[in-house]
Amino acid sequence: MEKLLRDVIISNLSTDGIEVPLSYMDDSSVVDGIAFTTDSYTVRPYFFPGGDIGRLAVSGTVNDLSVIGAVPVALSSGIILQEGFELEDLKRIIKSMKETLDYSGTKIITGDFKVMEHDKLDGIIINTSGIGRRSPYLDHNLEVANSYSLHRERWLLDRNLRDGDVILVTGYIGDHGISVLSSREGISFETDVKSDVQPLNRMFEEILKVGGVVAAKDPTRGGLSNALNEMAEKSGVGILVEEDKIPVREGVRSACEMLGIDPYEIGNEGKAVIAVVPEMAEDILKALKGTREGKDAEIIGVVKKDLEYVVLETKVGGRRIMERPIGDPVPRIC
Ligand code: MG
Repeated sequence: MEKLLRDVIISNLSTDGIEVPLSYMDDSSVVDGIAFTTDSYTVRPYFFPGGDIGRLAVSGTVNDLSVIGAVPVALSSGIILQEGFELEDLKRIIKSMKETLDYSGTKIITGDFKVMEHDKLDGIIINTSGIGRRSPYLDHNLEVANSYSLHRERWLLDRNLRDGDVILVTGYIGDHGISVLSSREGISFETDVKSDVQPLNRMFEEILKVGGVVAAKDPTRGGLSNALNEMAEKSGVGILVEEDKIPVREGVRSACEMLGIDPYEIGNEGKAVIAVVPEMAEDILKALKGTREGKDAEIIGVVKKDLEYVVLETKVGGRRIMERPIGDPVPRIC
């Protein structure tokens, strides 16, 4: 999919003169100082423990703005429904979108609505796009970071990791994917794991006020493995991760064992991977723990320029490469 994206789409859509262009494949792009992002949501089932497609569509777009250091200003939404879609379900989804918008302090101000024949679509697809302005705390945050070591980017881009930066994750990994899978027909199993789907802009405001954050990414498709590998690759560095520091719930671990999937490769929808200059890592961790969204945050690793890969150090001291997931281990969870 990434090769298709690069060869067929991105290479043919020139983005000369754009501050953060499409070709960076970061969470948002930036043009004329405005952050801009878009995503389409096809999750099945569209109601799952801890959330639904409406909450997901708002959170996903708010989070893609938040992780580059922007504050959401407004969203658009395109909704495509299958003919005969239950009106009550649609009402429930819209109510959920509204609650999530209110919590994150943003609005949907433009949209589109289409109905397709029942044999062309199963259920509902929602696209959301969002624009954001530079966080009022981003310049302060980068000044703090640069007072310790020079990081050249003006936004929290994936390519901004430098040797010695500390890697944090803002809470438990794998909850969203397991919650969606557990409610899917045919493979249902007993678990009390709920999706983590939530907007992260409030949490980001708190940590940017402290300062020292240099890069961030929401580990959605491909999970933690994909997020760490993308950041490392784009920055030309390696990352050493301590496996026993990665927060994974027992319910997620056992479900993953049963299903034969890697918890680090499952998508999350309310978490961020954050890179911080080492001098500020403890302060950022403390600030995260003081927020509702980041209360289970942990320091999980460190950036190493002489490592070529993302390397997991296991509890017994062994090391293995944390590879980038091939394909999508868990389809249609976002
Ligand atoms: Mg993202």
